[in-house]
Amino acid sequence: MNKLFLYNTLTRKKEEFRPIKDNEIGLYTCGPTVYNYAHIGNLRSYIFADILVRTLRYNLGEEKVKWVMNITDVDDKTIRDSKIKYPDLPSMEALQKFTKEYEEYFWQDMQSLNVKTPDIITHATDQKYIAGMQELVKNIVDKGYGYIKEGSVYFDVQKFAKNHKYGNLINLDMAGFKAGTRVDADEYEKENVQDFVLWKGYKEGEPVWEFDLNGEKLPGRPGWHIECSAMGELELGCPFDIHTGGIDLKFPHHENEIAQSVVGYNCEQPINYWLHNEHLLVDGQRMGKRFKNFYTVNDLKAKGINPLAYRYLCLQTGYGKPMNFTWDALRAAEDGLKHLYNQVRELGRERGEVDSRFKEKFKEELNDDLNTSQAMAVVKDLFKSRIKRDNGLATILDFDKVLGLNLYEELRTTYSTTSTSTSTSTSTSSSSSSTTTTLQPEDPGFKLKELIEKRQKARDHKNFEESDQLRDEIEKLGYVVEDTKDGQRIYKK
Ligand code: AMP
Ligand code: ZN
Repeated sequence: MNKLFLYNTLTRKKEEFRPIKDNEIGLYTCGPTVYNYAHIGNLRSYIFADILVRTLRYNLGEEKVKWVMNITDVDDKTIRDSKIKYPDLPSMEALQKFTKEYEEYFWQDMQSLNVKTPDIITHATDQKYIAGMQELVKNIVDKGYGYIKEGSVYFDVQKFAKNHKYGNLINLDMAGFKAGTRVDADEYEKENVQDFVLWKGYKEGEPVWEFDLNGEKLPGRPGWHIECSAMGELELGCPFDIHTGGIDLKFPHHENEIAQSVVGYNCEQPINYWLHNEHLLVDGQRMGKRFKNFYTVNDLKAKGINPLAYRYLCLQTGYGKPMNFTWDALRAAEDGLKHLYNQVRELGRERGEVDSRFKEKFKEELNDDLNTSQAMAVVKDLFKSRIKRDNGLATILDFDKVLGLNLYEELRTTYSTTSTSTSTSTSTSSSSSSTTTTLQPEDPGFKLKELIEKRQKARDHKNFEESDQLRDEIEKLGYVVEDTKDGQRIYKK
């Protein structure tokens, strides 16, 4: 294997990646807090995690990586907004209904961006994890690093900082730390290093779990930081290999995760590699829900932009650099993607073999801390080279295992239509292609196009018998019809 180098926030260095176990790499990604639509800034962090997972698999083999992602379905924000949306429902029910809705949108976005589904998805409110969180809180208290105050349990930061390092991921100024001051909020600034909450005592109108802590009844709910420590350990053990998230999570979230696991799991270094993606910015400011400067995947779709153009844009920049978002940059990325699709189509259908020299170059760039912008430059070189004639297709499809731009799908797709009748256009290739040609009756594709449009109309009118007959006719012409939630997709057999 070529050596893989990753920038580790813990050591502030690019380091060679050495897994704990040869046969399984454990990777945990802080998943979304499902209280709203994910914005494309959030989604940058999942595209990054996806590229990381794909790169690990590209190097080591599919089955070697266990990717865990959590869904934060209980915290301050989910509780607050579920009460607003469903004021008449009992709080637990409101929370569950509310978070499920946004979680569904999240997975749709992930699909649109071709982010692989994690191997394990953990929901913080799952009873198994709640029990794990409670056990972790108990461990911390039993070791003398946690204390109860007015029904809540807090982590004693001063005591921890005396015996361990607090401030592994960012430089913390402990001089300003006031012992005994506490913070209940899940998110706070680094200027406020304080004891943070592990378990929040019950407040009226909030969802509640019973908790018996050494005989003391503490009904309440978990703090945000304890959720990730417990879910990570339950699925991957302690220590495990890699933890990812956006840079804003370094403090307090990840710093507190480390402190909790060090004490509660007796594990001096709970995670070996911490990787953080830089932010997506708008006019120099971080894209964020609270700044009201965000766009979603649906905003992209509404403008007719293929969401994979955003993935392409992220690949061009690389995860470690701040990226300023503009529609012009996204449109340019979409042009780049369309151009790539056309180039791939022009390679014909003979696959050939993966060119080892190009593969080596591509891998070398990826293995340099996921340098995707340089890896994309290798793709450009491939299309300039003579290799492309015989082995171009096999090579680019191999690269796409990591790039995830759906090149194989695009190659197979001859036509696609969407379910709204206005968009059954005369496009001769997929909806994301740049070439739109009007077919004439004598063109060989004319009949096919006519049948597809007729079938779309039949489906729009729920006339399934006719739609089935039309499918048969299309298939007789040598095409396969697939009905997807976005409409029909037609492939050459
Ligand atoms: P949240 O759903 O708020 O917990 O955030 C989900 C992920 O998105 C976290 O890893 C954040 O660090 C990340 N994130 C939030 N805002 C941005 C942004 N503007 N650019 C990149 N990542 C972000
Ligand atoms: Zn987390």
